[in-house]
Amino acid sequence: MSDKRVYFFGDGGADGDATMRNLLGGKGANLAEMTRLGVPVPPGFTITTAECADYQRTGKLSAELQAEVKAAMAQVEKVMGKRFADPADPLLFSVRSGARVSMPGMMDTVLNLGLNDDTVQGLAARSGNERFAYDSYRRLVQMYGDVVMGVSSELLEDAIDHLKEKRGVKLDTELSAQDLRDLIATFKGLIEKHAGRAFPYDPWEQLWGGVRAVFESWQVPRAKEYRRIHRISDEWGTAVNVQAMVFGNMGDSSATGVAFTRDPSTGENRFYGEFLINAQGEDVVAGTRTPQQINHAGRDAMPAGHEARTLPTLEDVMPGSYAELVAVRERLEKHYRNMQDVEFTIQEGRLWMLQTRSGKRTGVAAIRIAVEMEREGLVKADDALLLVEPDHLDQLLHDQIDPEAEIEVLASGLPASPGAAQGIIKFSAESAVEAADKGQAVVLVRRETSPEDIAGMNKARGILTSRGGMTSHAAVVARGMGKPCVAGCGEAFVNYETKTLTVAGRTFKEGDVITINGTTGAVIAGAPPLVPPRLDDPNLSRIMAWADAARRLKVRTNADTPHDARQAREFGAQGIGLCRTEHMFFGEDRIRRMRQMILAGDEASRREALEHVRPLQQADFDGILEAMSGLPVTIRLLDPPLHEFLPTGDKEIVELAGDLGVSADDIRRKIEELHESNPMLGHRGCRLGVTYPEIYEVQVEAIIGAAIAVKARGFDVRPEIMIPLIGTVRELAEMRQLCIATAERVIKAAGAKVEYLVGTMIEVPRAALTADEIATQADFFSFGTNDLTQMTFGFSRDDIAKFLPSYLAKGLLPTDPFQQLDQTGVGQLVEMAAQKGRRANPHLHLGICGEHGGDPSSIAFCHKVGLDYVSCSPFRVPIARLAAAQVAIREKQG
Ligand code: PEP
Ligand code: MG
Repeated sequence: MSDKRVYFFGDGGADGDATMRNLLGGKGANLAEMTRLGVPVPPGFTITTAECADYQRTGKLSAELQAEVKAAMAQVEKVMGKRFADPADPLLFSVRSGARVSMPGMMDTVLNLGLNDDTVQGLAARSGNERFAYDSYRRLVQMYGDVVMGVSSELLEDAIDHLKEKRGVKLDTELSAQDLRDLIATFKGLIEKHAGRAFPYDPWEQLWGGVRAVFESWQVPRAKEYRRIHRISDEWGTAVNVQAMVFGNMGDSSATGVAFTRDPSTGENRFYGEFLINAQGEDVVAGTRTPQQINHAGRDAMPAGHEARTLPTLEDVMPGSYAELVAVRERLEKHYRNMQDVEFTIQEGRLWMLQTRSGKRTGVAAIRIAVEMEREGLVKADDALLLVEPDHLDQLLHDQIDPEAEIEVLASGLPASPGAAQGIIKFSAESAVEAADKGQAVVLVRRETSPEDIAGMNKARGILTSRGGMTSHAAVVARGMGKPCVAGCGEAFVNYETKTLTVAGRTFKEGDVITINGTTGAVIAGAPPLVPPRLDDPNLSRIMAWADAARRLKVRTNADTPHDARQAREFGAQGIGLCRTEHMFFGEDRIRRMRQMILAGDEASRREALEHVRPLQQADFDGILEAMSGLPVTIRLLDPPLHEFLPTGDKEIVELAGDLGVSADDIRRKIEELHESNPMLGHRGCRLGVTYPEIYEVQVEAIIGAAIAVKARGFDVRPEIMIPLIGTVRELAEMRQLCIATAERVIKAAGAKVEYLVGTMIEVPRAALTADEIATQADFFSFGTNDLTQMTFGFSRDDIAKFLPSYLAKGLLPTDPFQQLDQTGVGQLVEMAAQKGRRANPHLHLGICGEHGGDPSSIAFCHKVGLDYVSCSPFRVPIARLAAAQVAIREKQG
């Protein structure tokens, strides 16, 4: 490596380029790259990370540095036609840190470096704006005092507050030039007193101090802590970017603005931007003046009556700069091959680009931009696909809160199921059903939900719970239904007695209107306007076609009803990866029979009760197998503990007792008997099949019975029977034997021919550890990463909301492991089980059906460890198709 310490950029030339991130930091490399492109970037220079490393060792700036900085400074002065420290017309600088990766907010910036009691007068004269000049100087002294000289920023802020109080004003902007002059004097006094040194008059001394401060900021505790959490090496060090300041408030030939190379809300290929004449960047953001549109197209698109329609555009007032800006736009899009968000300043008729980065956009805009950029030849299909983020598709598939709407966020819970929903609050499933049946929009608000609430959830527009995590009942069911849900909102207090919801100090009664945003987790007062989903968009179809051509992973769905199965198929699902059968035991007659079965004293009475359930189950399977004709359908045998099917309230217990002709006390006794301390680790999953084989038997009869009937009607059926919660090969062997014997008996009795598979979920760590043994008894594995995460971490799925926020705030967990697969821990079990399983049984088919099957980063992991498919809720199928394609493309591109 060369020993060069200072890299110049400016006026079409740069010593560095985008590949030099390690030496120049991300920001420095990008500034160099932009300059090379011929984009007019304010000139400057980058001091390398190598110099930083030396500084950490020696505590001194190197001998070479001074000469190199002086040479670079001369180049900058030449480009700008101004001189550093010139009292008549001073060239000013910003000094910023810039590490290899961005470390937001870790190290501070110093602006306006080069001002002192003399040069400030030059700036005042040149700008014709004394107040601006002194305000710039005030900012320098304040930032420098804090960042470089270590004077507490509160002390300096207090001085501003005192002065404002004395002058009887509220805003900084109300202080006059004389006030600012006084303030500068006060700051200097405070600095001298607390730092033991005076604020440096000499601009060069200011500069060296700034450079040293950036290097020293690498070692401040918050930066060290940030590096520790994000696993950034202490050795990297930071670069320093010293860049000429440009001002948009130097009179009427100056301006400042922001622009997007395409319309960020519709994606239309038109240059879109706003600017203000004689203003600084913060004036555009502050919204005190109405910004003007940069071009006629933008102005004409403003709504009638909007002030911007009456204002001249940049095209009108500075046609030369506008033409230059248009040329920059083209160059940036060609180079970055993405829509850019830029900031620009025009100083005395000269255009400068301050920043370019890929622009944030709506879902609709994202797919339009990707499709059109491919059509325009800017990108190939694979790269176009990478321009669409999975979240963009999520937006397209659900109602959203109008981004223009003003909203009052009361509290935030977990973004459990995306989309926005609004309606009147109902606190029980029954009252939700009642209101919905009358045509009212309802948001069901519960502490948590249970299978008994299904009907109410189904009728509600959205669901809000105060407890539970991302895989709580409410979250899983809502996602399956494609219904917005905010779960585990700990700040919301739900009182069933008084029928009130208390949140953010406000109390809502049943019937009051709220809105939830399941995409962000926000709970919102009232009913802000919503915008509908766009399913018919031809751009979306094109994106999906590209995705399907690029991906290796298949995408199935988690669906429990024929309706969901059909919906998922429309979204592109290639089969069902998980059909949970427990929901099929709810519904009036079924739950009665199920309860009868549970309460039965012996096998014969259990069988009798189950006899009533079988035809109903068979009818469900029939519909699902037909809807998925030609595609595999994985049906899981009963999983939850039996007590979940029993009533909880007294009224219901008495009703049930009447129904079944037993005493209420009998029922209470049975409930007591079934009570478990740890139901999730208790009598559930295949343990039910071991203790009550007749339950599984009846289910298999129903599955195979349905398959025979549907096949007879000419459909192509591919049932896969799945055993839950297996931990040992002997358990599985026993259950497999039961399934096969039952299936063969049904097939033989019908004189039919039906192919089927028998496999298992891998959701108990022991099953993953012994996957080679388990694989000898399985045709497929489906990773149940909800339970696998629960059991690997020992985190209860239903209680994690209580402590997760603290874990996330302290950086003890990077994300919710029930949402994003923990690849290092749980992922290791998945990978190992996949390998061991395949080695023992080369025909083994592998998939995932935990909620992670719809999460893009987890999908990428599934691709890498060689699974055959992911399975997710119907509304996430398009997202999973995209995510599977993106990982395949990234792998191909290396
Ligand atoms: C799982 O555990 O990942 C799974 C899919 O099963 P369930 O969520 O029904 O326990
Ligand atoms: Mg499970």
